[in-house]
Amino acid sequence: MKEKDLLARIGKLRTKSGTVETPLLFPVINPAIQPVTPSRLKEEFGFEAIITNAYILKKRYLNQPVETGLHKFLGYDGAIMTDSGAYQILIYGGVEIDQAEIISYQEAIGSDIATILDIPTGWKVTKNQASLTVEETLRRAKDFFKFKTRDDILWVGPVQGGRHLDLVAKSAIEMGKMPFQIHALGSPTEVMESYRFDVLVDMIMTAKKNLPIERPLHLFGAGHPIMFSLAIALGCDLFDSAAYALYAREKRYMTENGTWRLSELDYFPCQCPKCSRETPNEVLDKSAKEQEIFLAEHNLYACSGEFRRIKQAIRDGRLWEYVEIRAHSHPALLTAFKKLKEYKDLLEKHNPTVKRSGLFFSNSEGLSRPEVTHYRERLKERYSHPEESKVLLLAPQTYNKPFHKAREFQKIQQVLKILENNMLNKIHVCFYAAPFGVIPLELDEVYPLSQHDNSVPLEDTTICYVANEVASFVGRSHYEGVVLVHDPHNWSDRVKSACKKSCLDKGLKFNYLVLKEDSTKNILTRLEMILRKNLSE
Ligand SMILES: [Zn+2]
Repeated sequence: MKEKDLLARIGKLRTKSGTVETPLLFPVINPAIQPVTPSRLKEEFGFEAIITNAYILKKRYLNQPVETGLHKFLGYDGAIMTDSGAYQILIYGGVEIDQAEIISYQEAIGSDIATILDIPTGWKVTKNQASLTVEETLRRAKDFFKFKTRDDILWVGPVQGGRHLDLVAKSAIEMGKMPFQIHALGSPTEVMESYRFDVLVDMIMTAKKNLPIERPLHLFGAGHPIMFSLAIALGCDLFDSAAYALYAREKRYMTENGTWRLSELDYFPCQCPKCSRETPNEVLDKSAKEQEIFLAEHNLYACSGEFRRIKQAIRDGRLWEYVEIRAHSHPALLTAFKKLKEYKDLLEKHNPTVKRSGLFFSNSEGLSRPEVTHYRERLKERYSHPEESKVLLLAPQTYNKPFHKAREFQKIQQVLKILENNMLNKIHVCFYAAPFGVIPLELDEVYPLSQHDNSVPLEDTTICYVANEVASFVGRSHYEGVVLVHDPHNWSDRVKSACKKSCLDKGLKFNYLVLKEDSTKNILTRLEMILRKNLSE
């Protein structure tokens, strides 16, 4: 594993045909109707792996791929994954093949990554039906180990259960106990077609939580660039896309922000080699087959470009920001993004604590960021204020950071400088700031407390979060009094009221004053008096 961000990781997957980097997209190959040849996929488009359907191969080409070997048969020397035909069961119902047959076929043709014959749960099924697919898939998974013969193939143990999360959990726990090298999450295609990305978040997180975290997770049938970043952020490592070809056949143009019909476009919003040479009108003048090939090729570029951007975002430690931008492409994606709130502990558990870049905090969704969760828990569990401090002086966040070096804080510094040392020791300065809450001055240069940028005005949700953090910080402290530098312009009255209430509950003295840029000397004198009074009592 090379780089991590959120649950995403850049890793290496060793197959018998070579090592590939993950996250990885496998274009789906259908030899009968393939718009772009497998060899071009590797050489021109840079796809290091492809996936094809062993069931279709067997049905249509019988022993041919066995005799030549799968790689030669497809004319592809990268890693080849095979699916077992499970999806055909889902779409056409039933399949006249048994598991032993399809396992030995995948071994005979020499797949690099191969799949057991699972039973996809599907979308519109009752809990009972869903449960049956989970049980039968588990039974076949256990059975599989009796008749597999090749250990140089990476075997995929699919997790089923659909939107029934308790079944997904059970399926993941049981599959995870078996020695599969890769897991896959089944049936998301229909979830995505109905734009239920929020359900997808639940499904992925449930699977992820219950599977061995180090094993790669493949998200079956999730081939649209609009959702790659979200799924990768949640820990999906492998994807397959039939969509690039299916969409092309329907004259649809994929982008990371959504889909257009070719006929709707006046301009191509893309700089791929296809789109930079022609206009939509010129493409519309071509034959139907040429249009389809043009679109398939563009769609592939759209997918691979998005993978590169996501991987760079992982390296930069900016995947949250990246997913956030993408989430604004469609309300259904934003709904899914907001769901991350429910999984912030899981995200925090696996997120690296130090990254190479600061955080951009754009809106209250950012409160679910692992860095925020991490800081809140650490402050609660591991921090106690200096023993000698009797008065908490709470100052608002400043525009520049670190806070204690900012110009706005200099006025307060001036007052503190006037005080005698024995008084100064008893004052503990903390800042209240979005999105982290209370930041003790002595910590304000610790990553990422100064390495973040906010957008203002702050949303009400953020203000309430910080106000709550202030209240609970005061609530668990041992101060005798609190002096708040109140900033009604940025924080309304919420921080003040929350702080005051917490002081009242604990029987602490509470004073506040408003400090403005053009504050006169009088205000500073007042601050001095308040501090002195607090300390002399
Ligand atoms: Zn393009």
